[in-house]
Amino acid sequence: MHDRLPLDMSGEEFRRLGYRLVDLLAEFVDELRDVDLTPGESPAEVRAALGSAPLPSSGAPAAQVLEEAWRLLRGHSLFSGHPRFAGYVISSAAPLGALADLMAAGLNPNVGAWKLSPMATEMELQAVRWIAELLGFPADCDGLLVSGGNMANFIGFLAARGREPRQRLRVYASRETHTWLEKAADLFGDVAVRSIGVDEVYRMDCSELERRIAQDKAEGETPFLIVASAGTVSTGAVDPLARLRQIADANGLWLHVDGAYGAPAAALDEASEDLRAVGSADSIAVDPHKWLYTPVEAGCVLVRRPGALRATFDHSPVYYRFEEDGAPVNFYQLGLQNSRGFRALKVWMQMKCAGREGLLRMIGHDMAMARLFASLVLAEPQLELMASGLSIVVFRFLGNGVVSEDELNRANAALLDRVQASGELFLSNAVLEGRFALRMCFVNFRTTEEDVRRMVADILRLGYA
Ligand SMILES: *Cc1c(COP(=O)(O)O)cnc(C)c1O
Repeated sequence: MHDRLPLDMSGEEFRRLGYRLVDLLAEFVDELRDVDLTPGESPAEVRAALGSAPLPSSGAPAAQVLEEAWRLLRGHSLFSGHPRFAGYVISSAAPLGALADLMAAGLNPNVGAWKLSPMATEMELQAVRWIAELLGFPADCDGLLVSGGNMANFIGFLAARGREPRQRLRVYASRETHTWLEKAADLFGDVAVRSIGVDEVYRMDCSELERRIAQDKAEGETPFLIVASAGTVSTGAVDPLARLRQIADANGLWLHVDGAYGAPAAALDEASEDLRAVGSADSIAVDPHKWLYTPVEAGCVLVRRPGALRATFDHSPVYYRFEEDGAPVNFYQLGLQNSRGFRALKVWMQMKCAGREGLLRMIGHDMAMARLFASLVLAEPQLELMASGLSIVVFRFLGNGVVSEDELNRANAALLDRVQASGELFLSNAVLEGRFALRMCFVNFRTTEEDVRRMVADILRLGYA
């Protein structure tokens, strides 16, 4: 017997600590409905709770460290799995995903190369295929899992741009597009974004788009990409995807759909024709950690043309021999990462557990909660419905009597602060035409009708506070 080095652990000790952690988490799952959603502490309070000790020179027992980490996190966190969390399009994560992450980290395959992760690579390929099938996208597409929507969109963008250096590239997107696009334009070459206006329900204005493309072509620019949204961050708007597909074809442009949040709703029977048209995109970004309910992080990019990712990202250095063995795929050749974790396992396990039907029931439930919330807002004279799309509802509090837009903006910002600090519910905001609005996003299988009614009552109560 040799002495174990510090972070090594026997199976017996792992079992003891693991059972303890599972007990803590199991209790947490059961009491989530009744805990404060957030302690609403200031940064100074949170930092004081953690303390500012330097790296300890000698270690501490693992059991003690585990208890300390739990105490800190359990006492000073915001819980997005709470039934009345409707703040962002971050899902209430499935408990199964937590177990999957434990399994993935326990076995720790490096899903950068097939040889280092034979079954994990195959499971990721399968998960990607299942996501494509759910969205009505060709199952033989390219794709991989990434950290989230930003990275998935970056990869779609880069696949569209290709490897050849090209000048004066122009990309077209509505002004409601998520901020990832600005980062992409900063990072990825001689690119400028043409920001296109929207119609009264915040969808891209196709006439303006066509005019802008024609003008750029006439001026010797290089249009290459239309970025459409299937579920904008502010209002859940779905751009006219069917029409955008035609415009892209007519102009020889790549159509990328940012469906980070909304794309899974394309699988619903009730999905609009435009939403279904996500299946016609050249590439799609979709986040399993949003409407497929996995814990963060899990994003996914799908690219229609098989081989497109490899053509964009493959460099095979002399120090790798992963190709020689006839590996069917090495994910490091298909994206930006080299070493890669097994984030696919939670996606795979959750999709297999829920099945297509189960996923659609969950997404349909969120849509129903949003419809209920919107109907309660409409029925309440003190609240004004401002926009809604998919499972997002944007509204504001009007209060008593006629007040100016400025006062309404200030009153709603102050109300949002009170709501967020309350620990009872959590929402966020949108700004529509300069008007400050409150925003509810339902991506939460724990939210019940009763929660929705209670949230409306809480908002009214805090509105008058
Ligand atoms: C959330 C979101 C993003 C960014 O995704 P992350 O997972 O946060 O990186 C991009 N676009 C849309 C439409 C989103 O909803």
